[in-house]
Amino acid sequence: MENKNLEYTLGTKVIMKKPHPCGTNKWEITRLGADIKIKCINCGRVVLIPRIEFNRKVKKIITEEDEIC
Ligand SMILES: [Zn+2]
Repeated sequence: MENKNLEYTLGTKVIMKKPHPCGTNKWEITRLGADIKIKCINCGRVVLIPRIEFNRKVKKIITEEDEIC
């Protein structure tokens, strides 16, 4: 279970279950800690959420392969 934390690194892009009001659901991780800071890729809005809540809300981690497509 602790290994789950290793899935994320700074700059990792993720898709959240709920889209941002601006229309995208893609976010980039800009800070890792007990809280995780994510930035909306579309509008640049930054949100700080507890890691537990982040893990619940994240839908998918965007890999480099996904970005090429
Ligand atoms: Zn946004």
